[in-house]
Amino acid sequence: PISVSEYMAICLFDPTDGYYTTREPFGASGDFITSPEISQMFGELVGVWAYSAWIAAGKPVPFTFAEIGPGRGTLMIDMLRTIDRLDPGFIATARIALVEASPRLTEIQRERFATAGRAKPSWYTQVSDLPDGPHFVIANELFDAIPVRQFVNTEQGWRERMVALDEAGELCFSAGLASIDPALLPTGKKAEIGAIFEAAPARSSLMAELSARISKHGGAGLFIDYGHLEPGFADTLQAMKAHAYDDVFAHPGEADLTTHVDFAALAAVAQASGLRPRLCTQGDFLLRMGLLERAGALGSKAGEDVRERLRGEVERLAGPDQMGNLFKVLAVSPENVALPGFNPAD
Ligand code: SAH
Repeated sequence: PISVSEYMAICLFDPTDGYYTTREPFGASGDFITSPEISQMFGELVGVWAYSAWIAAGKPVPFTFAEIGPGRGTLMIDMLRTIDRLDPGFIATARIALVEASPRLTEIQRERFATAGRAKPSWYTQVSDLPDGPHFVIANELFDAIPVRQFVNTEQGWRERMVALDEAGELCFSAGLASIDPALLPTGKKAEIGAIFEAAPARSSLMAELSARISKHGGAGLFIDYGHLEPGFADTLQAMKAHAYDDVFAHPGEADLTTHVDFAALAAVAQASGLRPRLCTQGDFLLRMGLLERAGALGSKAGEDVRERLRGEVERLAGPDQMGNLFKVLAVSPENVALPGFNPAD
């Protein structure tokens, strides 16, 4: 048996058969569609956020503008196009960095940047290779793809949930030997027998590395993903194939495999590094950043068909029944750096 975390890691990143290493995940012909691929307005508003954060930090130079897990590169391209209009000095002074674990997606990003304006990014395979100095870091749907461990409450106590083979030789879940320190479990919530708890040490350590850099050198980070603000007991492991849910064991390496992001855990990691975390829903964030105004501006000179498309994109990104509530936004920065898109209570 292997842990759920190993199963996720092999399915997503096996060098020859992994999902991100071999497949074309995004878009209509892929398995899922992300916010930057839904609408240019997403990258434009996140770009305005990043530019505002740089100003709020006192326009430090030199600085790194990094995206972690850029997929097809669309978000960074949309952000840079927008920021370049606001201030051509930004691209001239920024060290633009793309951190990508998949060699295949790196190639796609290189091809797209070859014809996407004058910004010349550098590529890295891990955050620890980024240059020192202030960091302005963006990541969309990164953390959901980083493996988690699952623990199951059994009659014998909490046990790590494993992936094993049943008598017919099919993949199945089983309870392993390892347990979990009860201090790590959510407090004040009752766990029935069979309840699942997800712990994400690999996500926490990536967040810790980014937070330590921002804390030491200055900057800010914005992390957008689907997930929950309060930790709880739930099995959120899911597979997506051709825009439909798939059995998590049906197509290993051929389906996307994710779990919900525990935003409270990521915020606690940032706080432990001395940063101030802010959390809100994607809907609130995009509306405060001016989604309706941007859609209005784009639609004002366009025909009814374009306006109809823009209305659909706004609904998809910010509608409470679509991505607006399910997706959350976490921003982190040193205490004295004011960030747009959040209320004082967030
Ligand atoms: N941000 C893009 C893609 C999201 S899919 C979008 O919104 O469309 C997840 C991306 O993260 C992929 O590019 C995947 O290869 C990358 N990724 C996953 N784990 C990573 C890690 N540990 N370091 C860097 N990139 C990672």
